[in-house]
Amino acid sequence: MNKKSAQKRFGHLPPKYKFSLNPYPEMRFTSCSHCGAKTGQRKLPLLIHVDPQHLIALNYTCRYCSRCNMLFGHKHEIEYILAEMFKRADPGVVGNRYFIIGTVEKKAWREGMQAPKQLEDALDFISDFKSFEEIRMTMGGWFKEGITPPVMEPPKSTDWVKR
Ligand SMILES: [Zn+2]
Repeated sequence: MNKKSAQKRFGHLPPKYKFSLNPYPEMRFTSCSHCGAKTGQRKLPLLIHVDPQHLIALNYTCRYCSRCNMLFGHKHEIEYILAEMFKRADPGVVGNRYFIIGTVEKKAWREGMQAPKQLEDALDFISDFKSFEEIRMTMGGWFKEGITPPVMEPPKSTDWVKR
């Protein structure tokens, strides 16, 4: 591990996927927003940090473009699942800031379900994302030459909000 690298890395495995978070519930990303190829599905445990100090692995089915090596996750789905989990476990954190950091190796994740590992051990099974972005779409329709289409404001979170 190169601890001096400028980008702070979390997991000990090499970064694996790029990740795109899609905040538009009606967009399903059956094709890749970057290259247009048809996307498949990939179910894997996403590692999510919820402020102030929760770290959870969420087994989630992403859309996946093999050409771009990019996962697409739906923000509203993920927030719904998070809200359902934390409503019981720790309702005070619902609506807090969260970061989707990377993926957890499947085998380790399964074993972790039986006997939760210490975070230090868990790091050996975590790959950070190579990159992370939240998708913004521009409005469709006709615009005058030289005018950049305005960004379509994504709908606000509905489940992951402070009550
Ligand atoms: Zn692609």
